[in-house]
Amino acid sequence: MIRSQMLAGVEDQFDVIIIGGGATGLGAAVDAASRGYKTLLVEGEDFAKGTSSRSTKLIHGGLRYLQQGNLGLVMEALRERGILCRNAPHLIYHLPFVIPCYKWWERPLYGTGLKIYDALAGKLQIEKSRHMSREELQSCMPTLQTDHLRGGSLYYDGQFDDARLAISLAKTAASLGASVVNYAKVVSLIKKKGACVGVEVLDQISHTCFSAYGKVIVNATGVFSDELLRLDSEAAQSIITPSRGVHIVIDASFFPGKEALLIPKTSDGRVLFIIPWLGSVIIGTTDTPVPAVSWEPSYSEAEIDFLLKHTQQFLSKRVEKKDVLSVFSGLRPLIKARTLNTASLSREHHLFVSPSGLITIAGGKWTTYRKMGEDVINQARKVGNLPVRKSMTETLPLFGHREGVVPLTPLSTYGSEEKKIKALIEKNRSLGEKIHPKLPTTYAEILFGIQEEMACTLEDLLGRRTRALFLNAKAAIQCAPHVVQLFNQSPLWQQEQLETFYKIAKHYEVIPNVKNF
Ligand code: FAD
Repeated sequence: MIRSQMLAGVEDQFDVIIIGGGATGLGAAVDAASRGYKTLLVEGEDFAKGTSSRSTKLIHGGLRYLQQGNLGLVMEALRERGILCRNAPHLIYHLPFVIPCYKWWERPLYGTGLKIYDALAGKLQIEKSRHMSREELQSCMPTLQTDHLRGGSLYYDGQFDDARLAISLAKTAASLGASVVNYAKVVSLIKKKGACVGVEVLDQISHTCFSAYGKVIVNATGVFSDELLRLDSEAAQSIITPSRGVHIVIDASFFPGKEALLIPKTSDGRVLFIIPWLGSVIIGTTDTPVPAVSWEPSYSEAEIDFLLKHTQQFLSKRVEKKDVLSVFSGLRPLIKARTLNTASLSREHHLFVSPSGLITIAGGKWTTYRKMGEDVINQARKVGNLPVRKSMTETLPLFGHREGVVPLTPLSTYGSEEKKIKALIEKNRSLGEKIHPKLPTTYAEILFGIQEEMACTLEDLLGRRTRALFLNAKAAIQCAPHVVQLFNQSPLWQQEQLETFYKIAKHYEVIPNVKNF
């Protein structure tokens, strides 16, 4: 995937133009391209720079919805979970979860709920849920708080690296003929007789503008949807209520083992996850309404304290602020209840057509991105009067598809592309070295990100092509001066990159005794 090649021809006439390169937009681009529609996706920043690189990294049915009795939604997500495991076995792997039971009634309650969860997955079930004794639980989770522990309920869901799945989707769309361009921000919509017929785009790398025309335009900008709707009509009503979810990352020694922990009820009535991920542990998340949207949402002291307090209740090894290696926040694009003209096809994601023909899709979750893509392109076909063609994504292997990948081994998420990275190392042994002793990433992955994955900035490389910034902010900052050199750009350009990166990286650091906002 080479950006200059993607840019060549963007001024053509397209069938479908998609604005936004997160889970939703990328899913729509894959769907449209799989039907043979001429497709352009423009992403204002980097692929998955928004919410889609800041998720809890679960491909799940959503036990929360089961608790609410929303069986349809759970079934849809479980079906999508199964499809994704089949289409991207290199990116999605099975993760065992334990719900600890401290009271006598918890075991039958969770056990029954999980049997229903198993049954709803049907033939796409991962493995059957079961009860775990106190002893079994102690041996697989040696740092779990054991006072009054009676045992636990074990079940399975999927886990993934969200930013890597986004890159695989971008490559899948490109391999099907779509043009996908990052750092291409839509600054206005082109209208003809009131109908939306194209987009005016600012290329944030060359600082030039270009126009692209499409029979139908899709707004898949997540929490930024309102901004696009206002470009369409100054009178557009706001549809998004952003809510912040914060995660902290700690060292695996606090929670060694392969299983994740689900705390079913926090003090604010939410579920909280403690999850092994890429050799570290993620804890999250919170739910805090915020007044404004941002590409780098911050966190509050209260949110960190909330996560630490609940972790301390469940782990015997005390985790403190100084132990937090990284913190990342994401914004949920929650849809306001009073949103007009909703032609929603699933109760979780919302899709509607503005009078100009602009289609907006928002909400949902990573797990259901494929179904959202299919739904929005079905709608786009009608609005754009495109030839009737069926979505192919249900059985479409995603880019890099490879069976038999051993999850969490070095380079496993690259699937069939692994050989290209190994070839880089064979040519130059020093590329096999790690960028930092505390990070799993090698220089070869960095170079591959620049050469084949359209990484344009230092932060693209350390934040999303590799997950250094999310795993250990301090280590990412320390290795940044070495990593930036692989871009082979002028010293001035490298210095600017470093300065920008250090500013962004501050959002990922928790500095004890320093008040945040
Ligand atoms: P985004 O990822 O925000 O993408 C929108 C894109 O539009 C952005 O990249 C932005 O740069 C771009 N854009 C904005 N304006 C413009 C413009 N003018 N021109 C061009 N581009 C523009 N789901 C799960 O299934 N599993 C989970 O474990 C999970 N955990 C979550 C945890 C948290 C804290 C949150 C907040 C969400 C979680 N989700 C999870 C939900 C999931 O992450 C989101 O539903 C999904 O990522 C939303 O994707 P999106 O493409 O709609 O939005």
